[in-house]
Parts: sequence; structure tokens; C-alpha cells
Amino acid sequence: MLIDLASTTNHLSTQTVELCYHCHKCTAGCPVVEAMDYGPDQLLRMVALDQREAVLASKDIWLCAGCYTCATRCPNDIDIAAIMDALRQLSLQEGYQTGERDVLLFHRLFLGVVQRLGRSHEAATLGLFKVLSHTPLMNDMGAGAGLFLRGKVPVLPKRSGAAKEVRAIFKECRTPDDQ
Ligand code: SF4
Ligand code: SF4
Repeated sequence: MLIDLASTTNHLSTQTVELCYHCHKCTAGCPVVEAMDYGPDQLLRMVALDQREAVLASKDIWLCAGCYTCATRCPNDIDIAAIMDALRQLSLQEGYQTGERDVLLFHRLFLGVVQRLGRSHEAATLGLFKVLSHTPLMNDMGAGAGLFLRGKVPVLPKRSGAAKEVRAIFKECRTPDDQ
């Protein structure tokens, strides 16, 4: 028998979704809410109401950028990014489609780059993503060109001095499913 979604989410995220009183501050500050179907506070309500399928098949849980803006705005100190992590984990475990094309590939590439370099590298992640998702290389270059020209996005990857410690964190977090 499946345990209700709120209990499982609370357990995995170490948060309490029922603490949310829907003041909407998180959603008002979320930088990707325009692309979401529900937004963070509505999603928390759906978790509390055990709307398992709608939540775990939602593209919102995959679009969350983990920026923590919501957590810093929440008057109840709810770490919504941790809740989104838990929901992604459950969605994968229970075999739901990700609701957004190639988003899982992007997540895996991003984490792979961080695991290797000890830090993110936008150009490497984006280049790999475009090749592996068969997306035309130049279709959104306009958005990144300014960043490249200002030197905000380094072209060549550089390994972090703490790469060894970061790899140890990945090793520690690995589950039997990752083997
Ligand atoms: S800011 Fe906190 S209390 Fe307000 S809606 Fe978002 S999660 Fe709920
Ligand atoms: S952590 Fe996710 S839900 Fe929260 S503000 Fe950032 S993108 Fe939005």
C-alpha cells in the first residue's frame, strides 16, 4: 500500500508541507513560475491533498531551478527546493513521465559535470545537452552570446580545488539504483 504523498515527501525532504498557509510569497518570487503549471505554493497544497499523479507527473517539479528564492521568502521557513528534490525522487521511483521533454537528460548532465569538475560549467552542460538531445546548436545562441562576450560564461572548464570533496559527496549520496 502506498503511503500518502505528504508523509513520504515530508520524510524525504525533512520538511512539513502542512505548515504552508498559502501566503503565495514563494510563488511571487519564483523566477521560473511563468513556465510552470501550478507554481510552488499550489504544488504544496496538492501534495497535502494527496494528488499524487498530478504532482508527480507535473513539469513544475522538473522546472524548479533549486535557487532557494522561495525558501528565503517563506515566513514558515519551508525549504521548497528540498521538497521539489523529494518529489523528483518519488516521480522517478514510481515511473512517472517527466512532463517536460529531455529535462531528465539535462539534470543528469548537469550533475555529471558537477561530479567531474566539482563545480558547474554552463558551456559544457549546454553543449552536451544540445548534442545528446539533438537540438540545433545555434537555435538560442542570442540569449547566451552577451554572457560569453562579457566573460560571464567561461568557454573552457576549470576543475574546482574541492573536486575531490565534491566527488566524495556524490559517492556518499549514491543509492543502489545509481549503480
Ligand atoms: S511562502 Fe511558505 S507559507 Fe507562503 S505559500 Fe510559500 S511555502 Fe507556503
Ligand atoms: S527553488 Fe524552485 S520553486 Fe523555489 S523559487 Fe527557485 S525555482 Fe522557484
